[in-house]
Amino acid sequence: MNNAVSKLMVPLEKKIRLGDIDPADTHGLTKEDAAAALVKNLERLSLLQYLLYAEGRRSVLVVLQGIDAGGKDGTIRRVMSGLNPQGVRVTPFKVPEGAEKRHDYLWRIHRALPEYGEIGIFNRSHYEDVLVVRVHGLVPKSVWSRRYRQINEFERMLSESGVTIVKFLLFISKEEQARRFRERLEDKERSWKFSPSDLKEREYWDAYIEAYEDMLTKCNSDYAPWYVIPANRKWFRNLAVAQILVETLKGMKLQYPKPSADLSKIQFE
Ligand code: AMP
Ligand code: MG
Repeated sequence: MNNAVSKLMVPLEKKIRLGDIDPADTHGLTKEDAAAALVKNLERLSLLQYLLYAEGRRSVLVVLQGIDAGGKDGTIRRVMSGLNPQGVRVTPFKVPEGAEKRHDYLWRIHRALPEYGEIGIFNRSHYEDVLVVRVHGLVPKSVWSRRYRQINEFERMLSESGVTIVKFLLFISKEEQARRFRERLEDKERSWKFSPSDLKEREYWDAYIEAYEDMLTKCNSDYAPWYVIPANRKWFRNLAVAQILVETLKGMKLQYPKPSADLSKIQFE
């Protein structure tokens, strides 16, 4: 899997074509191997989270993007299940309303950032402002096309301020999306999740792919890298995301702070 992780990273300064990526790819792994590897990675993640909290000087921001039924909720449920809820901040981003509409598009993003010591998870993000907004022409092209640069500058500032950013595009095929919609409709416990707007969005599939490709190419950097996760197989998706998070946190070389007390002088009766 280690080798696969680097393959999932979007190469810098190269135009990515999603058509070249197989959403059903499992990089030679079997479901059984993946289950064991996931457990191990979740344990590691839990230790690393503790270290991040103990150090208390930096944070991690996980950005999740993906088409409807791409598995953003499922990834959060499964991959974050081993984390201590006290150190995690999950924020879903919906259609902007109220005060969000009365500010620049990054305002709500900035407010939702994790504090130092925490892991923040964005279920959708500022990237909606170059995805849905672009696909539906909610603002003119002259406005959304500037946002790639603005987002890069914003993410650079965050990274220089101690925020480690890691971004995932959960990539499923159009057929897999249809299968998941059907499943949702047929399942009493999940039909509530289905919204008629999902079908409407499906008609814009190609426009979304184009917008994803631009986002992946223009907003990819060593300080805020994108990973494209083949997500047709949920078990592969979960393992890939977990492993990349582990590698990312390991790369931070987190350290326990020095104890504030002089331990040699502490005595108990
Ligand atoms: P869901 O994630 O299924 O709860 O849906 C949230 C909806 O909010 C999606 O249809 C997104 O496209 C939409 N959304 C999120 N951010 C924005 C934004 N900045 N502008 C317009 N729509 C957005
Ligand atoms: Mg939805």
